[in-house]
Amino acid sequence: MKNRKNMVFEQINNNDEIAVYIHWPFCRKKCFYCDLNSHVREKITLEHYFEGLLKEISLWKKHKITSIFFGGGTPSLMKPEWIQAIISELKKWSTFIPEITLEVNPSSLESYSLERFRDAGINRISFGVQSFDDQILQFLGRTHTAQEAIQWIRKAQQLFSNMSIDLMYGIPNQSLQTLKETLDVVLNLNLPHISLYALTLEKNTKFGQLYERAQLKMPQDDLIADQYELILQKLKHYLHYEISNFAKNESYRSKHNLTYWRYKPFIGIGPGAHSRIWIDNEWYAIHNLKLPEQWLQKVQNNTAVHDLSNLQNNIGIIEKIDQKIFKMEQFLMNLRTHEGISLVNNTFLQTDKLQKLHDVGDAIYDANISFRLTNKGFLRYNAIFRYLFDQN
Ligand code: SF4
Repeated sequence: MKNRKNMVFEQINNNDEIAVYIHWPFCRKKCFYCDLNSHVREKITLEHYFEGLLKEISLWKKHKITSIFFGGGTPSLMKPEWIQAIISELKKWSTFIPEITLEVNPSSLESYSLERFRDAGINRISFGVQSFDDQILQFLGRTHTAQEAIQWIRKAQQLFSNMSIDLMYGIPNQSLQTLKETLDVVLNLNLPHISLYALTLEKNTKFGQLYERAQLKMPQDDLIADQYELILQKLKHYLHYEISNFAKNESYRSKHNLTYWRYKPFIGIGPGAHSRIWIDNEWYAIHNLKLPEQWLQKVQNNTAVHDLSNLQNNIGIIEKIDQKIFKMEQFLMNLRTHEGISLVNNTFLQTDKLQKLHDVGDAIYDANISFRLTNKGFLRYNAIFRYLFDQN
């Protein structure tokens, strides 16, 4: 007879295709703005964390996988043979995985060689660059220079056809001209995918503390709006398929991130990683323990990632998502995309509000069929969400 744990795993809907996120929680140095689950550790055995990742994978039931994403932290600090071993393990779930991305920091201090990553099975590189202005890079606490980033990208272009770059706007002291110069460099590099995120101030960061002591001035909203306009204008030949993401054409859209934005199931492996999955036709969120040491200890001693009969035994917190929160989260994610949200069988939104947003040019509302934001609406995404869900 099967034990309860095995039953729980097998009750996950077998037809679901799943995206797998692998979190490597370590960095050489903490960037001044960064609130991600990333840690600088001097004296630890990194190999144990690699073994922990393999162990956590082994606790899951096998699924068909659409994508793997190695994020962090700085996953380019993982040995290529570890990456290869993880990919091999996941290929036991699905022999063909169309997209396998590795986030790379473009500096020899923060990455093994790109050839070795390619040979390990990576087929898409996502470079964390943020800016091509050395003063801004220094201000952000990045360890690479603009020139170094360009050299890494050029090298990657000889090895990978699919790659992306992360950049930032809304940075203190970043003028329109500085941003324009960065965008010119990117256009010149002719990359197939670009992500552009506005810097947000987070409390537990060096920037957050400086701001509280009035030692850091954030740019005005008007400047941020002008920067967003500039981005849209400069990248007008790209497909603007998500608020912050641009692709040369549909085939270069991030398959992995589309899973999140379409609110489909995904599994997160590693400290602080999240999962969203169906169990017994119920939608669950799993939030893994954040602190690497605590996560590792739990993984080493565990026999299940999610055991509904013994919640203390889980690697993180497991939470059932009710219908209302499911709809809100789904809406929140779908709204980020150019596809928008389908309104077929979706009656929870107030149609007068949708119509109003259409009338002021923030959205395109096709009654009972679909609702999506315009570029103007994208800029007011947070306010629109609060308006629709009465959170003002
Ligand atoms: S390299 Fe990335 S994850 Fe690490 S501190 Fe900087 S922004 Fe955060």
